[in-house]
Amino acid sequence: MPVLVMKFGGTSVANLDRIRRAAKRVGVEVAKGYDVIVIVSAMSGETNKLVGLVDETSPLYDAREYDAIVSSGENVTAGLMALTLQEMDVPARSWQGWQVPLLTTSAHSQARIEEIPTHNLNAKFGEGMRVAVVAGFQGLSPEGRITTLGRGGSDTTAVAFAAAFGAERCDIYTDVDGVYTTDPRISPKARKLDKISFEEMLELASLGAKVLQTRSVELAMRFKVKLRVLSSFEEQSDEAGTLVCDEEEIMESNVVAGVAYSRDEAKMTLLSVADRPGIASIIFGCLSDAGVNVDMIVQNISEDGRTDMTCSLPTDQVARAKQALEQLKTDGGLNYAELVTDDDVAKVSVVGIGMRSQSGVAAKMFKVLSDEGVNIKVITTSEIKISVLIDRKYMELAVQALHDAFELEKA
Ligand code: ASP
Ligand code: MG
Repeated sequence: MPVLVMKFGGTSVANLDRIRRAAKRVGVEVAKGYDVIVIVSAMSGETNKLVGLVDETSPLYDAREYDAIVSSGENVTAGLMALTLQEMDVPARSWQGWQVPLLTTSAHSQARIEEIPTHNLNAKFGEGMRVAVVAGFQGLSPEGRITTLGRGGSDTTAVAFAAAFGAERCDIYTDVDGVYTTDPRISPKARKLDKISFEEMLELASLGAKVLQTRSVELAMRFKVKLRVLSSFEEQSDEAGTLVCDEEEIMESNVVAGVAYSRDEAKMTLLSVADRPGIASIIFGCLSDAGVNVDMIVQNISEDGRTDMTCSLPTDQVARAKQALEQLKTDGGLNYAELVTDDDVAKVSVVGIGMRSQSGVAAKMFKVLSDEGVNIKVITTSEIKISVLIDRKYMELAVQALHDAFELEKA
């Protein structure tokens, strides 16, 4: 029988009523003839609560115990969902990550999926099970311990199952009804997209759109899993939500698909570092060792053999980055005049595969920002996106102005 993967996020399983509503959706697909793999998150707020308990108990926790604790929320919802389905006379069984098993690396708290053997689930499907309810977010390390896939990891669990079982589609049920041209809370003109390409979704997800975990989109792109994002709160048709798919499946699209933002950015500049081979490698090697996620990087022109190096990073990593770079200076690993940080910036990006073939998008973006009197601090581009770092207080304004200028409210 054809397989469908349905993933329900935390708000969609927040209480028994919602679990019942989700189970009904599953029942509809079973009635259509699908064998369904349901992936569930923990009830909303539950994982945060568990993380809080860990932090309170042991600030420098053992990551193996962190995983043992924070993975438990999903076990509850998997069991409850299976019971609810059984109450509706749908043959269902819950599966924890280790029972499948979902095999991962041993990088606790951010493990990567290695393999999902299909024989255990398939054997049960063969015996009449119609729904396998799998606890999302969790797996099994080579050492036989429970791992987790990083926050938001159930999305990745869902896509990985869809790939492993050759599912017809992977439906991600959430509290929004799809992917929008920008955050509707910022621009009331934001429009739901019927389709978006994997590449655009990947950029939007990594640029701050929270609807899908970035890794899940990466995986869907690699394995060509048809991914659909839709609301669990509305009645659904087969065309509901947003389909994330291959670019070839999208006939006509706007040059710019969406405007993304990330509020909590910081900018850091090392003034007067030597301009010679190896310097960037020293600086960013040091930051990477300190676990800092650097995003934009700009090196200035050099004068008298010295240059400035600027990068952006999440605000909550500034302290760690500073400490690492100051230590590097003390140890004699790197010489610089000053380390300047600016915590009050935000990143705004426009994304669209149309940019590959159409010129002038950057010029238009900069004109819009200039007309609004917004100063640009750092610019980076890729083939399908342009990002700028600006003062945080102008972020909403910039998003709205760009959404208007590129007429994203129009399909
Ligand atoms: N429950 C986990 C989290 O809150 C995983 C997920 O829901 O995707 O991050
Ligand atoms: Mg999520």
